[in-house]
Amino acid sequence: MKIVLIGPQGSGKGTQGKILSERLGIPTISMGDLLRNAEGELKEEINKCMNEGVLVPLHITDKLIENRLSKSDCSEGFILDGYPRNLVQAKSLKDITKIDKVVEISLSDEEAVRRLSSRLSCKCGMIFNSITRVSKEEGICDECGGELFQRDDDKPEAIMKRLEVYRGETEPVIGYYGEESDVEVLSFDGGKSIEDIAGEIEERLGC
Ligand SMILES: [Zn+2]
Repeated sequence: MKIVLIGPQGSGKGTQGKILSERLGIPTISMGDLLRNAEGELKEEINKCMNEGVLVPLHITDKLIENRLSKSDCSEGFILDGYPRNLVQAKSLKDITKIDKVVEISLSDEEAVRRLSSRLSCKCGMIFNSITRVSKEEGICDECGGELFQRDDDKPEAIMKRLEVYRGETEPVIGYYGEESDVEVLSFDGGKSIEDIAGEIEERLGC
């Protein structure tokens, strides 16, 4: 089964991808990983884009996806996590492979901000969450005793900015698959628990 997994940050998309990947015995593929692990000429071009703060162009992301999907572990299918991110990428992906199902995990902006802005970091690398993963002593790291702080990335303004990009650029991809591309879109409520969502996904995918 060839699956595209779509959802905003905070929806638990990554976790569901992992569960589904084990369930179906197919790999989860993230563009972030592909970009980080690229080698040779591609790597140089990617670094240049990153340094200039511009989007990595389509011919590179296409190449990375094409190479990855040609590996033997994808013969039974795969889960694309966080790709395609916009309509241009979705239309280009169509020429590389045929997608069977889109799994959308939706979440309101309010809940995404609530979940993400409750994240607390420590300089040692530990991450806590004032809702779901509370440190033993408030504001103090369990591992090293350091003082916990909120990263700029986890502040509501920064989260809202990323959500705007998601609503404006990524969400239209869902409509594209459902309407233009005739791919079945299965939508799930990301506000539910991880176990509930995983159960619903399995049921509706029949796996
Ligand atoms: Zn620490």
